[in-house]
Amino acid sequence: MTAIVFGAGAQTPPSPTYKANDRFEQMGSLLPTPNTFRTASGSPGRDFFQNRADYDIKVELDDANQKIIGSEVVTYFNHSPDELKYIWLQLEQNLFEKGSIGGVSRTGSVNETGMSAASLGALTATAGRGRGPTANRDFGYKITAVKDKAGKPLKYTINQTMMRIDLPTPLKPGQNFVFAVDWNYLITEYYGRSGYEFFPKDGNYNYFIAHWFPRLAAYDDVNGWQHKQFLGQGEFTLIFGNYKVAITVPNDHVVAASGECQNYKQVLTPTQSQRLQKAANSKTPVVIVTQAEAEAAEKAKPTGKKTWIYKADNVRDFAFASSRKFIWDAMQTDVYGDGKKIWSMSFYPKEGNPLWEQYSTRAVEHTLRSYGNRTFKYPYPVAISCHGTAGGGMEYPMISFNGGRPEPDGTYSEAVKAGMIGVIIHEVGHNFFPMIVNSDERQWAWMDEGLNTFCQYLAEKEWDYKFPTRRGEPQQIVDYMKSDKSVLSPIMTSSENVISLGPNAYAKPATALNILRETVMGRELFDYAFKEYANRWAFKNPTPADFFRTMEDASGVDLDWFWKGWFYGVEPVDQDLVEVDWFTLNTQNPEIEKALARSEAEAKAKTMSKIRDAATKDQTVVAKDSTMRDFYNSYDPFAVTDADKKKYQDYLASLNDEERKTLESKNNFYTLTLKNKGGLPMPVIIRMQFEDGTDSVARFPAEIWRFNDAQINKVIATSKKVTQWTLDPFQEIADIDGENNSFPRVSKPTRFQLYKQQRSPYAPQGPNPMQQQQQTTQPPARQGGANKN
Ligand SMILES: [Zn+2]
Repeated sequence: MTAIVFGAGAQTPPSPTYKANDRFEQMGSLLPTPNTFRTASGSPGRDFFQNRADYDIKVELDDANQKIIGSEVVTYFNHSPDELKYIWLQLEQNLFEKGSIGGVSRTGSVNETGMSAASLGALTATAGRGRGPTANRDFGYKITAVKDKAGKPLKYTINQTMMRIDLPTPLKPGQNFVFAVDWNYLITEYYGRSGYEFFPKDGNYNYFIAHWFPRLAAYDDVNGWQHKQFLGQGEFTLIFGNYKVAITVPNDHVVAASGECQNYKQVLTPTQSQRLQKAANSKTPVVIVTQAEAEAAEKAKPTGKKTWIYKADNVRDFAFASSRKFIWDAMQTDVYGDGKKIWSMSFYPKEGNPLWEQYSTRAVEHTLRSYGNRTFKYPYPVAISCHGTAGGGMEYPMISFNGGRPEPDGTYSEAVKAGMIGVIIHEVGHNFFPMIVNSDERQWAWMDEGLNTFCQYLAEKEWDYKFPTRRGEPQQIVDYMKSDKSVLSPIMTSSENVISLGPNAYAKPATALNILRETVMGRELFDYAFKEYANRWAFKNPTPADFFRTMEDASGVDLDWFWKGWFYGVEPVDQDLVEVDWFTLNTQNPEIEKALARSEAEAKAKTMSKIRDAATKDQTVVAKDSTMRDFYNSYDPFAVTDADKKKYQDYLASLNDEERKTLESKNNFYTLTLKNKGGLPMPVIIRMQFEDGTDSVARFPAEIWRFNDAQINKVIATSKKVTQWTLDPFQEIADIDGENNSFPRVSKPTRFQLYKQQRSPYAPQGPNPMQQQQQTTQPPARQGGANKN
């Protein structure tokens, strides 16, 4: 404790050598200059434009050869102010061609301790991705015709995953151009985004067909033509349009697709049609194709073909799934209570049950409601979740392919269940980002994955308070933020170049947004601004600057320091509470101050020698001989004199009301010394635990670091004595080192085991908890399935 008196130093001004703290300077040239296409407030400008492509496609799925044969008529509208001499189309299937950049640019080295044939194959592959096709087939697009409206061939050039069509005459602003393309390609094994899954037990294929037709590349005010090659990691940059798609499949297949089916009457049995009608008015899923029917189809052979016709308006893409193994359930519900009904549907093989029949369609509907409430109402008539291979998921307009598969005995771990519900929420959620808020995925993975993972985190918590969310909580990003700089890239890194895509494009931006909402802006300001962004850019193509600007524009919060730290930098948060100095006010009251001084002096006098000498204190010269004493032998410097009392009364009389109030408050004043060890400045949140067992939390904005981003002092006054100080007590700023967050330092025991255990009890191998329970009780957990219809 140190006593202070009035008049002692206030805040220390910055030293003369002080330089502007760049962390709190505005973003300046980090952002593009606003213009008439995109404004400084982050909204579309008066000259904003986007081109459009409408498609009329006929496609056949050849189940015997796992092949797609298609033809399309495309109407391309030039809404740009520019004349276009040529147009670019995307040919993603060429990723699987021999010599593709994605294949041959893969790096790595042989592991001398041993490698699987698959990973060795991936290292030497000249096509596709690591998980790509193993069969040595001739993958990639075979373009068989490119012609104009009159059937006249058009000149075209294929450059890997892009194709340029030279226009006979330049396409002027406001004009459209109609052309046709015929193509075919061999379908690859499912690689996470599209392909087939083969079931050796019954010999059937499930098909998940995506980026399956030559699609227009985007032409916009930011990139001109966005024709950055598809290397496999960076997703898609697309434009909106209306689709009419006729899908011909074996007549025992069930099809799920982007859009609304136009001819259910022709493709469904009367019983299935009846069930669909029932589902149109049901608040719970109704089975349209039962498991028993799907299992019967698995064993039979098709007797011909069927064509399913779909229409999808104002979508940026079109995908579909097809199989004879599909079970199908659906419900059409008034998701937002506004009288407009939306279909939620699921398609899955029996291998997905019992999880899929219980959860999928309900999770789809929950996603539409949760996301819709924080952005805009889902504008499409249908949302579909299909069950693909064991893990992961992939999104397309109105349809998604999702993992999460139980064991063959129908049991599953909690991780599989949460993973399945989580991935459905995530992929259905992608309808909002980027299917509608149409950001450039090829360039900015975080703009869709980060925003979507953030909304997924919120939707999971709305699904179940105890949902084991994987990404979004600040503590969940700490390990990544701690990692070596060589595996960190700024969030603002191009999609194809991001190292550690999962933490960087999903978890870190999702965490950053959660911190913005909970800690920096507060829920009300954040939610308003986030909704404003979603609505401003629904059915348009925002850039990062449009997001950053809108969040500030709508909330009135300066977030430049936050974007710089979290999105442009790789530094972590590490606040260190170095020291706390305790001060109390000198009351000037001699009765109090002199008594205090006496006890301090007495305490100081108690040395080891003095304690031992006490036994012989009567033996000293002064003790034994009174002539050796004078005034000072009886003088008490701590006694209160009349002069002291008079001086104190004069002092009190000199104080004004405010000074007197402060003097009487008996406050404790603490000077905290805080270091910003990590580099990323963040708000300071500190819990004080008091002598009397109560506690209190003080919060200071990140601007507390604006004069000095390395070390600051902060004074806190409290009437009670603080016994323990703790920084970030609710784990809300992703501080990577908790050990330096307390003062005095608190040491926690690390638990260790005396015996040797083979593996962690939480490792995923071995029987899952449902199986363990079954071994001690009965009967099997599998329910429904074949019994339901
Ligand atoms: Zn995603």
